[in-house]
Amino acid sequence: MPGEPQDDCLFCKIIAGHVPATIVRETETTVAFRDINPQAPTHVLVIPKAHYKNAAELAAAEPVLAADVLREAQSVADEDKLESYRIVFNTGAGAGQTVWHAHAHVLGGRGMQWPPG
Ligand code: 5GP
Repeated sequence: MPGEPQDDCLFCKIIAGHVPATIVRETETTVAFRDINPQAPTHVLVIPKAHYKNAAELAAAEPVLAADVLREAQSVADEDKLESYRIVFNTGAGAGQTVWHAHAHVLGGRGMQWPPG
């Protein structure tokens, strides 16, 4: 079933509490936790509790849930008092996606370059 937890998904295991993570926010539909390998002073991943393999699949299947993820990304930025920040959805291996459960990276607390690498 679309959106159902997957046994072999790292982020589904974090949601279930089977893999530890530093959770900074949780709602009925989302979890936000610090990235294990931070690329900026603030580097938080915001994920839907439902399993979709990437942001495109999430937005197509559950647009309201996709909006929940974006709202939570804003809340993470607010809590860390970030004036500027970047929200990244790596989508596909060529773009750097390594975990196949939709997630927004919220990055901030340092200067950023454009275009990203
Ligand atoms: P992606 O490369 O798919 O866009 O992002 C996956 C992110 O998950 C990476 O930034 C990586 O550091 C992070 N990550 C991988 N394994 C773990 C883990 O076990 N715990 C946490 N908190 N983050 C992880």
